[in-house]
Amino acid sequence: MTPSDHSSYSATEVTQANNGDDSTPATPITNRLATLPILFDSLQLDALPQHEQQLIAQIDACLPQTQCGLCDHPDGCLPYATAIVTQQEPVNKCVPGGQPVTDAIAQLMGQETLPVTPSKWPTDLTSGRPREVRAIIREADCIGCTKCIPACPVDAIVGTGKHMHTIFTDLCTGCELCLPPCPVDCIDLVEIEHTPTAEERVQEQAHLRQRYHTHLDRVTEQLADRTHAKPVISMVEAKLGNATNQSIDIGEDEAKHTIAAAKLRTKIKKLEKQLAVRDNPKKQTELAALQLELAELTASVE
Ligand code: SF4
Ligand code: SF4
Ligand code: SF4
Repeated sequence: MTPSDHSSYSATEVTQANNGDDSTPATPITNRLATLPILFDSLQLDALPQHEQQLIAQIDACLPQTQCGLCDHPDGCLPYATAIVTQQEPVNKCVPGGQPVTDAIAQLMGQETLPVTPSKWPTDLTSGRPREVRAIIREADCIGCTKCIPACPVDAIVGTGKHMHTIFTDLCTGCELCLPPCPVDCIDLVEIEHTPTAEERVQEQAHLRQRYHTHLDRVTEQLADRTHAKPVISMVEAKLGNATNQSIDIGEDEAKHTIAAAKLRTKIKKLEKQLAVRDNPKKQTELAALQLELAELTASVE
């Protein structure tokens, strides 16, 4: 890795940033702030001064658009970009972006840069970012519960109830958000080689941003349309369906235990993921309590 490898990516965005001030008209980069999904209404971007809107759009353009929430913003990259500008959040919280993105944001903000939040993934020496991963479903183990589908921010998972699901690897960002909801742990992460040019990365990020917004708009429509089929079926519905198909009997108690265990596993996985990025004694205690509860629940049905 050379310094120019990193700065070559950020230069495009930082150059755009230097156009922004109160006296200049908004460049096209702010246009997409005008047509955002309803989820972002609470950010109240319209009420911000033009130069702040410009800066938010330019920081968002630097961010990987993985929408993973590892920056403590579960709604994704744009809320983090907004918090940097309006709430002085640190510039170093985007884990997938690595040091290059932290440096680019610091430059946009006119601040000294900071060491990026460490990642559990090794750093790619070419990009200076954590090595990228993609999710793969072990299809033989998938029970077709559909729980992973709504978790994916870029609609990379396809499948219908009671049938095995699959992931379009080309669309997957490796955000890991589909892992916690899977009740049977059948989603694996694999490291990939991915070293796009600066221009390719900007294009990829624009594509991912658009897919995320499309996903949010679709979910909004589904929620508004009360006649729409329920997008997620419960674990027990899936298991009962499979049991019926395979003539396997399942009792009510077992179903209740299965649901309770699935909920506990989901909470445990979320905490483990958060703790892999940042230590937190309170969350460690919570994790230990949940692990104990799961062990006791599992023992009670054996
Ligand atoms: S990619 Fe970075 S900015 Fe976007 S949600 Fe993940 S950690 Fe936050
Ligand atoms: S398939 Fe899983 S890891 Fe890949 S983008 Fe969707 S939620 Fe993220
Ligand atoms: S959550 Fe897991 S078991 Fe359910 S459909 Fe997705 S991959 Fe299959």
